[in-house]
Amino acid sequence: MLYDVERETMPRDELESLQLKRLKYLVEKVYHNVPFYKKRFDELNLKPEQIKTLSDLKYLPFTEKQDLRNNYPFGLFAVPKENVVRVHASSGTTGKATVVGYTKRDISIWANLMARSFVATGVTRRDIVHNAYGYGLFTGGLGMHYGAETLGATIVPVSGGGTKRQVMLMKDFGSTVLCCTPSYSLYLYETALAQGIDIDSLKLRIGIFGAEPWTEKMRLEIEKKFKIKALDIYGLSEILGPGVAVECETEQHGLHIWEDHFLIEIINPETGEQLPLGETGELVITTLTKEAQPLIRYRTKDITSIIPIPCKCGRTHYRIERLKGRSDDMLIIRGVNVFPSQIESILLETEGLTPHYQIIVKREGALDILEIQVEVDEKIFSDEIKHLQRLERKLIQTIKEFLGVSTRVKLVEPQSITRSEGKAKRVIDLRKQS
Ligand SMILES: [Zn+2]
Repeated sequence: MLYDVERETMPRDELESLQLKRLKYLVEKVYHNVPFYKKRFDELNLKPEQIKTLSDLKYLPFTEKQDLRNNYPFGLFAVPKENVVRVHASSGTTGKATVVGYTKRDISIWANLMARSFVATGVTRRDIVHNAYGYGLFTGGLGMHYGAETLGATIVPVSGGGTKRQVMLMKDFGSTVLCCTPSYSLYLYETALAQGIDIDSLKLRIGIFGAEPWTEKMRLEIEKKFKIKALDIYGLSEILGPGVAVECETEQHGLHIWEDHFLIEIINPETGEQLPLGETGELVITTLTKEAQPLIRYRTKDITSIIPIPCKCGRTHYRIERLKGRSDDMLIIRGVNVFPSQIESILLETEGLTPHYQIIVKREGALDILEIQVEVDEKIFSDEIKHLQRLERKLIQTIKEFLGVSTRVKLVEPQSITRSEGKAKRVIDLRKQS
């Protein structure tokens, strides 16, 4: 099923001419309305009319998260403040939050793109959507909310927290779609079991998970536990919120990014150079239709690649590979690049381990130490100590083999790692604190 057949199946040449038309309009608009961009263009000796083709995109300046912070709170608005109908903001764990504004039209486009995304995953207006993404300044909750309403599905705006009650509501309401972070879905599962609720008594059929990187193994785990189809959704508040890209139920591989609204590139994160189609690097997004706060070449820090192969679902919009991680999250351990998602894959492939883990990085003398704490299941935990030690050694060896880095592994008892009701905190880098 498709929500907007005409737009979603637009031939690529038409899609690209639409993108070019929108890009030209955008550069004019930001040059004349956002002092930040005028300054950047002037520094590069660049005039909006010099952007004549899509490949001229590479001459435009990048925008980074820091630019949003430097212009806190409303410095990047391209419209008068009275035209802004809503603002969202990031939690901003360090320093100022990043703020994003929306006009009425921005909100309506967002709701439509979310409706499109829901339909791509197989959701229909007959579904009951349990939305456990946080409501508030975070874009997850409200983004999903208006998308489901626009589609005509029934939304349950439960937000985050109160996990026991969530399970009860899902059961009583007969919710068919679950929206939350992948790690929270597993927490919901455990809570349901602990409450003696039979998972088969839930009517769930689709799970839409995002807001944190997860792996294929984690997907299989979630699908098996809930007996649902689990799909990946991608978004970021600086660009829009959820609904920038989503997996389709047909291929369930790669996320269609809505290219009539977002112009994408993959760059080398070190040099900033554009990479050829298909290569892995940092995703850069230009918003083509945002009114309140359009961004030019926003560096997402997310590592992925574009899949230029047509999808069986008929959508012509390119897919991006499941995110490998954030360039920010990439750990450099004694000169080796390691993504937490790679470690997660190995843990989930190992019999007896659970998806609950934490990676601790510290420095001893001049040496970086990577320690992985992972919960074992009840069965392994009751085994003899020598079995546990054998499992630890095996894990250390596998990680060394695949990632080329020596680690310490600590198998911990079930339920000992703190559960998160939002984004799971997987990595604790103690090196940054010293
Ligand atoms: Zn598809």
